[in-house]
Amino acid sequence: MKSSDWTHNICWGCWRKRNPGQRPVQVKLLDSMALICCWCGIPTQSGIYVREDPAVMHNCKHTVAVIIPASER
Ligand SMILES: [Zn+2]
Ligand SMILES: [Zn+2]
Repeated sequence: MKSSDWTHNICWGCWRKRNPGQRPVQVKLLDSMALICCWCGIPTQSGIYVREDPAVMHNCKHTVAVIIPASER
């Protein structure tokens, strides 16, 4: 199993729900890029990554990156 399977994207909403009061580790994304939240499936620019057992992430979509149209930035 690849180690990348343990790394998941999470949006701010899901982060706060799962880790109330905690500060996430964030990376900087390009303005034009969003990643799909592995928990709720919405595109997010949070840049937050978390480690989670792939066995519990049945609906994980973290390989999907989307480009945000200029009109929606
Ligand atoms: Zn994921
Ligand atoms: Zn989410």
